[in-house]
Amino acid sequence: DPETGAVLRTEGLTKRFGDFTAVDSVDLAVADGEFRSVIGPNGAGKTTLFNCITGALAPTEGGVYFRGEEVTRMAPHERVRRGMGRSFQISTVFGGLSVRENVRLSAQSVAEGAGEISLPRKLFSPTDRFESVERRTDEVLAEIGLENRADEYARTLAHGDRRRLELGLVLATDPDLVLLDEPTAGMGSEETRRTIALVEEVLADRTMLLIEHDIDLVMNVSDTVTVLNRGQVLATDTPERIADDESVQRAYLGG
Ligand code: ADP
Repeated sequence: DPETGAVLRTEGLTKRFGDFTAVDSVDLAVADGEFRSVIGPNGAGKTTLFNCITGALAPTEGGVYFRGEEVTRMAPHERVRRGMGRSFQISTVFGGLSVRENVRLSAQSVAEGAGEISLPRKLFSPTDRFESVERRTDEVLAEIGLENRADEYARTLAHGDRRRLELGLVLATDPDLVLLDEPTAGMGSEETRRTIALVEEVLADRTMLLIEHDIDLVMNVSDTVTVLNRGQVLATDTPERIADDESVQRAYLGG
């Protein structure tokens, strides 16, 4: 962002459902290389905020800026093409395709140039494109440690390896920003711990925006934590200071 140096910025971002305001004038700025977590009690507006950033929902007011460009009304796939790496739901892994084919499909989704209305992020000739997709596929398989499973059907992967593959699908798009919405939702404590460790291992050097309900989980991995409450930003600070903040504790207790 020419103004602030932020990779992602929201300005007065607001989403109303009827006369209920789920996201209320949210200003965020995520710096290059930063690991930012957005936390808050149930109903705080985290998922709605996330969906406005990815483009799944159109905000009622305000703007979303990615690498200095306004993307507020841009389609989700256009944002992905520009370098916003969204976490994919578990169903995005195609069980009937091999691990390699899954990664390749994801790498291809950002490398394709022909037939697009807007300019893709990277323009390739067909041969360049093929080679670059193959190269990126190999790199990602190495990064997620699944080289030895590359030719197995994705459906045969153990749960942990499937999680690895999901993160690989994000990495394959070579994102400048990785957006994760509650990657540990529905998991037990041990699996949760392992998943967060995996996110740290695989995505450590990426700019991250992690949406998470569990305050304890984000403490060790985040550079900065933003607390959302009733659609508004209650505080943005280091994890240590957020943990000590009384207004944050009150929000979590339903105050
Ligand atoms: P969080 O992710 O922090 O739990 P959400 O963003 O899911 O919060 O929801 C915030 C509030 O907005 C909740 O009160 C929820 O009921 C409401 N909400 C979310 N989506 C819709 C919708 N499509 N229509 C009406 N209300 C919604």
